[in-house]
Amino acid sequence: MNASKKKNIEAIYPLSPMQQGMLFHSILDSESDIYFEQTLFKVRGKMNPEAFKKALQTVVDRNPILRTAFVYKKLEQSLQVVHKVVDLPLTIEDWRSFSKEEQQTRLNQFVSAERKKGFKFSKAPLFRLALLQLEDDLWQVVWSNHHILLDGWSMPQLFQEIFAFYEGYAKGIELNLPPRRPYRDYIQWLQKQDLKKAESFWKETLQGFYAPTSLPYYNWLTEEEADETSYLMETLEIGEILSQQLEQTARKHQLTLNTLVQGAWAILLHRFNNENDVLFGTTVSGRPPELEGVEQMIGLFINTLPVRAQIDPEQSLLSLFQNLQKQAVASREFEYTPLAEIHVWSDVPGHAELFRSIVVFENYPIDQTMEERQKVSDLKFFDFKSHERTNYPITLVAGSHNNLVLEIAYEKSMFQRQFIRRLLDQMQLILRQFVADPFVPLRRLTLVTPADTELLTKGWNQTERDIPSDRCVHHLFEDQVKKRPDAIAVQFGEKTMSYAALNEKANRLAHFLIQKGVKAEDRIAIYIDRSFNMIIAIMAVLKTGAAYVPVDTTYPQERVRFILEDSRCKWVLTDNASMASLPEDQNNYLSLNSIRDALNDQPTGNPNAVCFPKNLAYIIYTSGSTGKPKGTLLQHLGAVNTTLALGEIFELKPGRNILQFATIGFDASVPEILGSLTNGATVQLVSREVIMSPEKLAEWLRNQKINTAILPPSVLAIVSSDDLPDLKVIGSAGEACNRDIVRKWSRKGRRFINGYGPTESTVSTSIYEIEDPDKIGINVPIGSPMANTRVYVLDSALNPQPIGFPGELHIAGTGLARGYLNRPELSAEKFIPDPFSRQVGERMYKSGDLVRWRPDGNLEFLGRIDHQVKLRGFRIELDEIENVIIDFPGIRDAFVMMRGEDENEKYLAAYIVWNDNRESGLEDLRAFMKDRLPDYMIPSAFMELEALPLTPSGKVNWRSLPAPREDDRFTVTRIAPRNPTEEILVNIWK
Ligand code: AMP
Ligand code: MG
Repeated sequence: MNASKKKNIEAIYPLSPMQQGMLFHSILDSESDIYFEQTLFKVRGKMNPEAFKKALQTVVDRNPILRTAFVYKKLEQSLQVVHKVVDLPLTIEDWRSFSKEEQQTRLNQFVSAERKKGFKFSKAPLFRLALLQLEDDLWQVVWSNHHILLDGWSMPQLFQEIFAFYEGYAKGIELNLPPRRPYRDYIQWLQKQDLKKAESFWKETLQGFYAPTSLPYYNWLTEEEADETSYLMETLEIGEILSQQLEQTARKHQLTLNTLVQGAWAILLHRFNNENDVLFGTTVSGRPPELEGVEQMIGLFINTLPVRAQIDPEQSLLSLFQNLQKQAVASREFEYTPLAEIHVWSDVPGHAELFRSIVVFENYPIDQTMEERQKVSDLKFFDFKSHERTNYPITLVAGSHNNLVLEIAYEKSMFQRQFIRRLLDQMQLILRQFVADPFVPLRRLTLVTPADTELLTKGWNQTERDIPSDRCVHHLFEDQVKKRPDAIAVQFGEKTMSYAALNEKANRLAHFLIQKGVKAEDRIAIYIDRSFNMIIAIMAVLKTGAAYVPVDTTYPQERVRFILEDSRCKWVLTDNASMASLPEDQNNYLSLNSIRDALNDQPTGNPNAVCFPKNLAYIIYTSGSTGKPKGTLLQHLGAVNTTLALGEIFELKPGRNILQFATIGFDASVPEILGSLTNGATVQLVSREVIMSPEKLAEWLRNQKINTAILPPSVLAIVSSDDLPDLKVIGSAGEACNRDIVRKWSRKGRRFINGYGPTESTVSTSIYEIEDPDKIGINVPIGSPMANTRVYVLDSALNPQPIGFPGELHIAGTGLARGYLNRPELSAEKFIPDPFSRQVGERMYKSGDLVRWRPDGNLEFLGRIDHQVKLRGFRIELDEIENVIIDFPGIRDAFVMMRGEDENEKYLAAYIVWNDNRESGLEDLRAFMKDRLPDYMIPSAFMELEALPLTPSGKVNWRSLPAPREDDRFTVTRIAPRNPTEEILVNIWK
């Protein structure tokens, strides 16, 4: 530093923690205009520029903070350096000759040029002032400063002072205002505080809060939109009447408006996250009362502190607000605590932000102060505007005089404007309900306006469509047989079978079964590999009026036995090839090969057995959390509705070849087989060998001229989409579909459809057809409800969630299953009364899927709320696997999770804890599991642990479980194959 520079220094001292934070973020994010603040307003009256300049000089002389620079390079500790003299950064321009429009354009340009210019920390002053003359007696004031100098509470003080001196000088009077306390006194006060006390306070306040509260942000912005980062602002005035009522109610219960606003925000976060413990930030004035004259000081005193809301849905709105207010009062003593320290003391990991939104209540309206000033001044001040940018994606600012105004500044790359507007409406709705009844339990609070409720529960569920009320699914097939007997019903490679031939064979088998006493509501298992016989058997069982129970021939015997016993199947239809793998001790097996002669004696006409739409059509077993699979009971009504609706959507129609990909144990086979046969299309069978190989599958799609294929996204990801001119409709179903898959498979003249639905709603619930593959967000929507289906997105108290808020998807309508076989309790838990239906007895299914509405009436899938996963299209309850592991002798504890970053690289990992008296090893365990679980449910990696890590609430802390590594001693690792259709288990045993 040279001598003259040194001579210009008045004082050097450290930064306050908040200043340090701002310095840090500004340096980190030096390209942006973070913490650049602007205040704009207009002045009407005669102004004397010379007097103004003098006034500003006086104010700068009186207030060291306005002469302060900041140094941090090559220093251990950053410092603020107060200069004795600085150049006065005052710009005065005459814009009177410009038109109004031009003035506005110039102002916009000027303001953004200022922002671009920013400030250099080492160069004082870190503020600038411009006086732009618009008319003879109209001036625009543009004040810019770095937030590190001043907080909002300082601004009115500052402008009061400037204009007080100005008006004095303009009249030739030297004002003699008392001096202000300098900012350095505050720094000295700070240095004397004992952080120990603060530490125990904040530790206690935040104890047990682990993961930052997520923000209600949308990730369906297009890439373009998501790329643009900038801040936007939405404002809502809640109205004078409501404001007055609020103030009265607040006063009555000794609450501040600030608390009400914070409380409403807490409720939004709680409902948005389905989380009863939420955290956000708030800005406090930070002016310690024991520092005399602090209210009149100029500088940066504010601090941002966490606010934690622990919410009990049963508690009243009032009690939540009271708790928040208590917390605010208690924390006042520790307002000075650096946020960085608080973060360290908390249980939130250092790499995560403590919170992502802040609520600011402005108690320093500058316009109000200046309005006061007008009373003693010849000048009028109006049209106040201010710009500021925090480093939080959402800043909610509330301010009030007569009318409570809520303002949300938001990061444009994360939120849609519409959504932010709705958040403001929801805030208002909460406050309104508080005025109406402060004692309303949170559980009963609605975040959805009546109009939106109507839209969400009714408007977007208008799906009524006529379906034949007296027909069963095989009747529709018989109609097709009559219409086009010679059309090909089923094809397997070169071999084909016509509609008439299939009908005849199915009829013979049906008559045979009916003779054996088979009737409606009976259950007949089908244990046959992909073949004509498999299709004949399905159709035959339906024709008897009974329900078919598909059993996968690759399942281990234990599982097969369980399904056959649980469903109390009268007969098991099989063939000689498959029969060998059935459990030996049963005597109700019917091999179609063995009864060939008997079948030849049967009549060929349609049996016309008694069967009503409410009778069972099929039972599908899915993974069950108790350790055993559960049978879902599906009716003809739903099957008819689904086959008709999907027939239309997927173009399952005469002349079209439909790929039969899914094994019949999964209901994805229902549209492929029954959908095709009820609509006149051709079922194209494939061998397991072809399905296992992406290359062969692609070839098959080409050679068999497949027109419609519905595949899980994990298969779509690895099969080549090239050179398939006949493929007219491609469906992705069973798992979350992503944008890459859509782009890969979209072609001109080909439709891409994302289908969603659990087994419990007869295959399909909602459908989304991609309109423009270039215009989809990151998540591919699962669309809107299909024919005769209603969907509700609800919170845990069954309140409709607002648009954009995640909630559990509840499904109602024609396709709903009757329930689970032999599981009355589970059925009652999952199929509950539909509160939105006017019809008595209507139920809805709790899907366990977390979804949200998009503003366009389409649903977006977000994940599961339980331990169910989808792995390569297979539905797996992880609890089922854990229960099987725990059944193995010598195991104390087990936890199974799905791992793998990439959608195609997902695999199951099991973490096991042995008892001390362990007798066997992993090989035995795996063999035990293979006897009980299908291959796709056998974890690819096993890790042995001393104990499972637990969270304080006693749940398995899966985040801290080690990822299996190949060189891990206990790990049996299989890096998931690139090809998901390959054998799942390719374990590399160590
Ligand atoms: P399943 O009963 O086998 O059809 O499995 C139903 C479950 O698969 C649903 O509850 C979802 O979790 C998941 N699922 C099905 N289709 C989709 C889809 N299009 N996108 C995301 N998840 C899906
Ligand atoms: Mg499904």
